[in-house]
Amino acid sequence: MDYLEKLGVEIKTSFVVGMLWSIDELFKEGYHAVFIGTGAGLPNFMRIPGENLNGIYSANEYLTRSNLMKAYDFPNYDTPIHSGKNVVVLGGGNTAMDSVRTALRLGAENAYIMYRRSRKEMPARLDEIHHAEQEGVQFHLLTTPIKYNGNEDGWVTSMECLKMELGEPDASGRRRPVPIEGSNFVMEVDTVVVAIGNSSNPLVPQTTPGLEVNKWGNIIADPETMRTSREGVWAGGDIVTGGATVILAAGAGKKAAKDIHRYLQNP
Ligand SMILES: Cc1cc2nc3c(=O)[nH]c(=O)nc-3n(C[C@H](O)[C@H](O)[C@H](O)COP(=O)(O)OP(=O)(O)OC[C@H]3O[C@@H](n4cnc5c(N)ncnc54)[C@H](O)[C@@H]3O)c2cc1C
Repeated sequence: MDYLEKLGVEIKTSFVVGMLWSIDELFKEGYHAVFIGTGAGLPNFMRIPGENLNGIYSANEYLTRSNLMKAYDFPNYDTPIHSGKNVVVLGGGNTAMDSVRTALRLGAENAYIMYRRSRKEMPARLDEIHHAEQEGVQFHLLTTPIKYNGNEDGWVTSMECLKMELGEPDASGRRRPVPIEGSNFVMEVDTVVVAIGNSSNPLVPQTTPGLEVNKWGNIIADPETMRTSREGVWAGGDIVTGGATVILAAGAGKKAAKDIHRYLQNP
């Protein structure tokens, strides 16, 4: 960031585009080109009963509190985190593996992964899964929660779950998990971390007329130039691809920068 500032970049913080100013207002203020790199930061939830109980986090919140806001060093840092003894992380991706290993470091006695398909379908990198196993994470595969239970103070105490079996492949090409009737069981938990993916933040598309998005709300951009359907507006990174990787986002930024440069030379 220091390097960018030395090059002449002006950084405005605490500025939510679409709340303070819209993209159109930025143009009115005299900007000639806009690049949207707002990411896919809206956590998905299970949408099952009891999800508002205390002790149930999105992976975003759990990891942001523990790492970025240094809750691991509470009270030296003033961010608290509810770090239970029986922590279950829902999901089978890299974010789930980050979360479950964070739970171990925060003192969990039992750290579980619960994933609705089998180990073979897990989207996490094999070495991430392997490291989690090596550290003692317990895997509940082919299992899904259907309801959270809590106490009178509003804290989660247990989860009702269902066992699944794999059926025919679905649209993603992976075999669809099918619930096994009557396989319900209750599992005691005091912290739940939901790591089942993120959606794109709808704020910028909703406040930018004429900006085309796909059915998941990702901005549609030309893969070579990163130009969007709006004149003078580029987009790249997770807001275009959905949750992906740093290297892809950085690559999109470079492609867009080249094209924005061309555009500004010759609008
Ligand atoms: C837990 C976790 C672990 C990951 N691990 C890896 C990994 O190991 N390797 C890897 O390559 N990738 C990893 N990723 C994915 C990687 O973080 C993303 O692909 C990458 O950060 C996308 O970059 P981006 O610039 O598109 O969006 P982001 O990095 O999400 O940045 C978007 C920024 O825009 C800001 N913003 C959003 N809306 C607005 C608005 N309206 N106005 C102003 N600002 C706004 C946000 O606050 C944010 O700072 C991980 C992701 C997660 C969640």
